[in-house]
Amino acid sequence: PKTDAPEYRQLMIDKLRENNVEEFRSLFFELHPYDQAKFFLKLDQPDRMLLYQILSPEEMANVFENIRDDKNRYKSLLEEMHPAFAAKMMEYMYADDAADVLSELTKEKISSYLTIMDAQTAKSISELLDYEQFTAGSIMTTEFVAINANYTVQSTMDLLRKEAPDAETIYYLYVIDEEKHLVGVLSLRDLIVHEDDTLIADIMKKKVYSVSVADDQEEVARKMKDYNFLALPVVDFQHRLVGIITVDDIIDVLDEEASDDYSKLAAVSDVDSYDPN
Ligand code: ATP
Ligand code: MG
Repeated sequence: PKTDAPEYRQLMIDKLRENNVEEFRSLFFELHPYDQAKFFLKLDQPDRMLLYQILSPEEMANVFENIRDDKNRYKSLLEEMHPAFAAKMMEYMYADDAADVLSELTKEKISSYLTIMDAQTAKSISELLDYEQFTAGSIMTTEFVAINANYTVQSTMDLLRKEAPDAETIYYLYVIDEEKHLVGVLSLRDLIVHEDDTLIADIMKKKVYSVSVADDQEEVARKMKDYNFLALPVVDFQHRLVGIITVDDIIDVLDEEASDDYSKLAAVSDVDSYDPN
């Protein structure tokens, strides 16, 4: 059956229940992570428990990053997992997504997960959790590629080869100085059209548009839309590069704000149509 056919879904459930790991995995990984997430969300709890046995924390992280539309389920899903599995899974998620998941939990629960996570990862996640809601800092992620102006195209390519697997986007490369101040930017396209020995300083754009950690997320959305960037760098109060916000995060913001406005509207019309009799 085709991957979007109900029979395909049923086949996956059958393989899952038969504990036919190999065939289940080959069917499951045929799906785009968003569809993997949809499959996951529609499972009953006993089937989900089977899935946690079959998928690695890293694979589960990929699924979890795609259930953003169902934030209200984060908490219960996390709590049905083995805590060590859940913590590992969040280690593999992008820090902004992990922070988003954790923000649905109580302070005590959050720290119980953070303490069993890799210290470095736990630190970046908890810093993100400290930013005020609806600010750029609270929606940015810390997995970006930063280089120095004295790099060449070749040395940047070498670095990218190492860092690309973990970076949220490699489309823009940000240039920082020794104090981590944001001093330039170039796109992957800018990079690959130049000779290997070209200095980054000679090809980077020095006027860099950025947002501050404290800026409202709507301000970020507007800037991203006006300039048509796929990502924007986020700087702290000393103008040091501390994160990036990618366009997919902004789509989530706009979605949330649209539904907020919609519920306000709905609430108003409820009042209007209220009939005391
Ligand atoms: P183009 O549209 O010019 O063909 P592109 O498609 O490779 O370039 P875009 O995403 O359209 O890349 O970005 C256009 C240019 O903007 C790139 O050259 C990039 O270096 C630059 N740029 C990216 N981010 C920023 C930023 N935050 N501030 C200033 N310039 C930026
Ligand atoms: Mg372009």
